[in-house]
Amino acid sequence: MPSDSALRIVWIYPDLLSTYGDQGNVLVLERRAQLRGVETETIHVRSADPVPETGDLYLIGGGEDRPQILAAERLRRDGGLHRAVAGGAVLLAVCAGYQIMGSTFGGEEGQPVDGIGLLDISSSRGAARAVGELVAEVDAALNLPTLTGFENHMGVTRLGPGVKALSRTIVGTGNGNGFEGCYAGHVVGTYLHGPALARNPALADLLLSWCVGDLAPLDDSRYEALRQERLASVLPG
Ligand code: GLN
Repeated sequence: MPSDSALRIVWIYPDLLSTYGDQGNVLVLERRAQLRGVETETIHVRSADPVPETGDLYLIGGGEDRPQILAAERLRRDGGLHRAVAGGAVLLAVCAGYQIMGSTFGGEEGQPVDGIGLLDISSSRGAARAVGELVAEVDAALNLPTLTGFENHMGVTRLGPGVKALSRTIVGTGNGNGFEGCYAGHVVGTYLHGPALARNPALADLLLSWCVGDLAPLDDSRYEALRQERLASVLPG
């Protein structure tokens, strides 16, 4: 039985949005919290269910165009995620989930579809599908190592003045204009699958630290081996 002080992780709409290993982000957060002695309680919220407002850390993944449109409609109608973020909850939104957080995104025919307006971004269909490895240097203010991940999307994303770019793209497309992802307050959006947090444990720790404060370092040699292997596969030696 989790205690009242357990870190509450909310995994939004696994039945609609969870491609390319995004659920691994939940596992990484649970594990890295538990290794620091932080108990966790994870709630999987299917799309027919209300999004609880009492979570500490919310995650939403990527997916295909139609489930993405459905997810946006349901999240907007539900309102729980808005209220949670307004109350200070942390959110990691990946790919389709990232696009949904903006004012608009491209539907299956490229038509503009309303997002849920949690981030000052807007997305539309790009000229070509962006698919493959992605490497990006994170905004210095966040003090994180190079991001590594995998992307597969048609959308491109413009950032408004209410958000900052998460990183500058070295390999891959990301937002489509030399930058990858964005952040505002404790909300992070990214095109990175792979899953993002297994390949970027420092990003997992940043999200956790926003919930529980400073964290003791861990032995990350296995994560590091994965990172080096992936980075070496696309960066010139
Ligand atoms: N359907 C969106 C796009 O193609 C998101 C894809 C994804 O989440 N992988 O841009």
